[in-house]
Amino acid sequence: MQTIAPGIRQLDTLIGGWSGVTAGFLIDGPQPALVETGARSSADTVVAALEAAGVGRADLRWLVLTHIHLDHAGAVGDLARAFPEATVVVHERGARHLADPTRLIDSAALVYGPLLDGLYGRMLPVAEDRLVAAADGHRIDLGGGRHLRLVDSPGHAKHHHAVLDEHTGTLLVGDAAGVRLPEMRHLRPAAPPPDFDLEQATASLHRFVELRPERVVLTHYGEVGEPEAVLREAEAILHQWVAVAEAVTARHAAAGVEEIAAALADAFLDPDEDLPDAVREKVETLNGVHSNAAGIARYLQRRARPQAS
Ligand SMILES: [Zn+2]
Repeated sequence: MQTIAPGIRQLDTLIGGWSGVTAGFLIDGPQPALVETGARSSADTVVAALEAAGVGRADLRWLVLTHIHLDHAGAVGDLARAFPEATVVVHERGARHLADPTRLIDSAALVYGPLLDGLYGRMLPVAEDRLVAAADGHRIDLGGGRHLRLVDSPGHAKHHHAVLDEHTGTLLVGDAAGVRLPEMRHLRPAAPPPDFDLEQATASLHRFVELRPERVVLTHYGEVGEPEAVLREAEAILHQWVAVAEAVTARHAAAGVEEIAAALADAFLDPDEDLPDAVREKVETLNGVHSNAAGIARYLQRRARPQAS
């Protein structure tokens, strides 16, 4: 575990056996919290990391999710069983999917295909009396004067909160500012189907800037640079990626996801970045160009619909 701010330790969930892809965050306090659970396939790793950090089975008080995508929330049912005193805090739009993950798993099966069982694993339900369905501004009390504040931040997903540690000004942004693994020079947007929405995503980034955080931390993966510059970069790349997709559909209205993905790869996969194949594989699996193409295509279709009628 790596201390990234006073009282905040970052742990590596080692999804798929890969390091430096998906983080969790242990926030100290009399009633400590874990933000992000990782995928279900990471549950044993996360339990062991918390135990090694001295968090006993009865000690952990909060399990906080940025959103319910399976790489962030898949282990929540296992961790709720492992830490019986922990209450799960999730966006109000995601809560019912934790109580009954059937639909969540069905839609994940469509998006992930064989990776669902091969990489992510499914999700155990969480008992309703262990769940808090939280709205924007919800504060989680860790005791000793420490609070986490949830910041509604749709765009990547409609059930997304960033988590602000008020004590240190650390903003855990989940996937709302994109992805940058330690080996990567550039941020990559995280614009998957079905929810990706450019206007919502940029509005969320503006909210983050207004919070004036001391540091911005991605779940994939870790702290990134000067906060305001990073958040502006995240907005700029979103506009750039959407613009490339728009140009494809402007040339050819019936352009499909494959054509958009090819154009995005041409425009943004930096041949000079010289990423090792293993890193490329991690990025493409986690946040592939194809997934972003599908999310942006769906967004463009949705945006066009009112004008079409
Ligand atoms: Zn996500």
